[in-house]
This record gives sequence, C-alpha cells and structure tokens, in this order.
Amino acid sequence: MDPFKQYKIPFVGLSVGKHEYEFDLTEAFFSLFEFGEIQVSEIHVDMTLEKGSNMMTLDFDIYGTAEQACDRCGDPITVDIDGEHRLIVKFGDITDRNNDEILVLGTAEYELDLSQYLYEYAQLSLPVKRVHEDSADCNEEMINLIDDYSIDEEKSDPRWDALKGLK
Ligand SMILES: [Zn+2]
Repeated sequence: MDPFKQYKIPFVGLSVGKHEYEFDLTEAFFSLFEFGEIQVSEIHVDMTLEKGSNMMTLDFDIYGTAEQACDRCGDPITVDIDGEHRLIVKFGDITDRNNDEILVLGTAEYELDLSQYLYEYAQLSLPVKRVHEDSADCNEEMINLIDDYSIDEEKSDPRWDALKGLK
C-alpha cells in the first residue's frame, strides 16, 4: 500500500469551489521521512482547497503538539505547534516544483501529493524557542554536564599542541 495515499488529492474530478480536508500528522507520518526535527507528535491540519478554473488555492491551518528537546537542558518537552500556510497550485504544460509557494502541475498530473508540503509546514510551525517554561523544571544534572563539557572543549589539548610544534 502507498503510505502517502491519504495525503494525495485527486484534483481532476473536483468541482469548482471550496473543499475541506483534514489530516493527522503523527509518528507514523513523520517516520516516512528520513530527517526532521519532529518525531513524536499529535498534529492536526485543517485544509481548505478552493478550486478555480485555472488554479487552486490551498490554505492550511496546522495545530497540535510535538515533543522536542529543551534548548537549555536537552530533556524532552512538549511544545505547541501553530501555523498557517498557503499553497497556490497552477496548471501548466509541465510540472514545476521549484517554487515554495506556487506549484505548477503539468497536463499529465491527476493527483496532488501534499505529504512533502505537510511535512515542511509542520517543521515551520515549531516555536523558535523550545525550553522548559519554568527553568526550575530543567534537568540540573544535564545542565551541569553540558557546562563541564563546554569548558573541556575550550581547554587546549596538549597532544595537539605538541603536534603543532613539530611543523
Ligand atoms: Zn529544560
């Protein structure tokens, strides 16, 4: 079975006008992609597709939660996902996916695969700051470990210093 099937919209038979869609982006969805910042998640997407005679406008409303590592201590925290994105689809002679906001579908296309867009929109909807709201919730032990490690990094390594002297 095609794991992306539920994210593909057969647009050829759609009538002109508005159509509503819903998608759930969970671990099963994100596991279809090799890389990414989101793994554990409960993300919901409401999408409105407005079909015109020679183009389609897709508005995505993305919301939910995802598990991320705290920027301060590295422990897992749950962050809110919230974002709105728009994709314009035009019909042309050949398919052109090189533009992030406007997708051109060639005459041979009959369905619109949204998986890559949903994946990217979800990543873009992550908050910029990902830390425990109350710093008292941070993992003290990890913070101390990280501090120790960065001090070690700054210290010069006598073995390398010796090698430099050989030049
Ligand atoms: Zn933390």
